[in-house]
Amino acid sequence: MAQNPPLTVAVVGAGIIGLCAALEIQRAGHQVLLVEPNEPGGRQAASYGNASWLNPGAIAPISLPGLWRKVPGFLLDRAGPFTVRWRDLASHAGWLARFVAAGKSWGLIERCAKQRYALCRDTVTAHQRYAEEAGVGHLIQQRGLIYVYPDRSGFAAEHRIWAIRRELGVRFTEIGETELRGLLPELSPAYRFGARLDEAGQIADPGAYCAALARLLVARGGQLIAAKATGFAIENGRLRSVVTSNGPLNCERAVLAAGIGSAALARQAGDRVPLISERGYHVVIPEPGLTLSAGLMPSDGQMGVVSTPQGLRLAGQVEFAAPDAPPDWRRAAILLSYARKMFPAHASRFDAAAHDRWMGNRPSTPDGLPCVGPASGCADIVHAFGHAHTGLTQAPATARLVAAMIDGGAPLFDPAPYSARRFA
Ligand SMILES: Cc1cc2nc3c(=O)[nH]c(=O)nc-3n(C[C@H](O)[C@H](O)[C@H](O)COP(=O)(O)OP(=O)(O)OC[C@H]3O[C@@H](n4cnc5c(N)ncnc54)[C@H](O)[C@@H]3O)c2cc1C
Repeated sequence: MAQNPPLTVAVVGAGIIGLCAALEIQRAGHQVLLVEPNEPGGRQAASYGNASWLNPGAIAPISLPGLWRKVPGFLLDRAGPFTVRWRDLASHAGWLARFVAAGKSWGLIERCAKQRYALCRDTVTAHQRYAEEAGVGHLIQQRGLIYVYPDRSGFAAEHRIWAIRRELGVRFTEIGETELRGLLPELSPAYRFGARLDEAGQIADPGAYCAALARLLVARGGQLIAAKATGFAIENGRLRSVVTSNGPLNCERAVLAAGIGSAALARQAGDRVPLISERGYHVVIPEPGLTLSAGLMPSDGQMGVVSTPQGLRLAGQVEFAAPDAPPDWRRAAILLSYARKMFPAHASRFDAAAHDRWMGNRPSTPDGLPCVGPASGCADIVHAFGHAHTGLTQAPATARLVAAMIDGGAPLFDPAPYSARRFA
């Protein structure tokens, strides 16, 4: 129950972050108004089309030491996992410089990894709980995730990251060629080594899961407000209402969880956060002729490959471009080309039926950490955005931090590293 008298709390955005935050705030005894102009977890949300991994081992930021040396190659290699649209290069230059700087030493990576691990560690158990309560327990599957490499040298080249995982207590198992063949008979023999994150899991259908969480919230007395938030009414430092496309919504607290839409609203709440879209793509092959026993990450494709009820989902690519620029479906074709390489015996089936193609916006800060904490201009507004590549994984811990901030309870761990003030 609420530590304080029940409050009316508006949660802006019904992606995975807003939904989990809304449920935790409601669990603490407060009235929740969930503001979302679209379907919760619908195709507009990053939470819909991702690789669906719940990965306690997602401790490494994308920017690592030596990245700057690879940037020219990324710019030139149109078929690699990273790309910058030339016309967006100038507007992204400042963010990219901060991104490279954030990963310039292993000391910075170790610190960031600890701060990320606090958000990742209990992800599967926490999602299992939400899913059971929402009546969709079957959607959370703890089957492990396997990073696959052409040989052990690829794994050895990443030894520092794996060592940090080990030190933090992330459980993983090295898998030699024979065992890999047994676990993944469909996988090309070109991949001869694997590392399995034993405790990782997968959301079988992230869009359906988000929809189920929204139904749970409403069944418990929350309200879904079909509107777009456009600002905040703040008087004498206190929040009076969230301004929406349907008029003001009176509330005492607000949570800003609008994914890539959060930057403009955060500015109104006093924080200029460098938030850009790392756009990603997915392709779903409806009848691939294979079902994987675990999610896969090929070291060359840097993408998630997972079996879902809709088919084989290939999700990945990082494209630095404006969030609303038209999709570049060549990025989806690249994902498909990796799938053909990974499963050569099945490749002829991959084009037998129409693919579902999707593009979404990862809401990304340059330093590999989200923004979670009170807004600088009004402490009644709590930020919860910027989870980039790992929002599904980090949603439950983010939600618990946010609920403690709203409710006045003690946070489970130190929230200071996630404050938006680090960008001031
Ligand atoms: C290709 C790809 C693969 C990924 N794979 C993984 C993975 O395997 N594991 C993992 O943990 N993460 C993964 N991610 C990242 C993850 O999907 C995101 O971090 C996460 O979904 C972000 O959730 P969110 O709730 O912040 O944003 P979103 O899911 O984008 O939701 C934001 C919501 O806010 C709404 N909104 C926006 N503006 C407003 C407004 N003004 N008023 C009201 N509502 C508003 C939007 O309509 C939307 O519904 C992946 C992402 C991509 C693109």
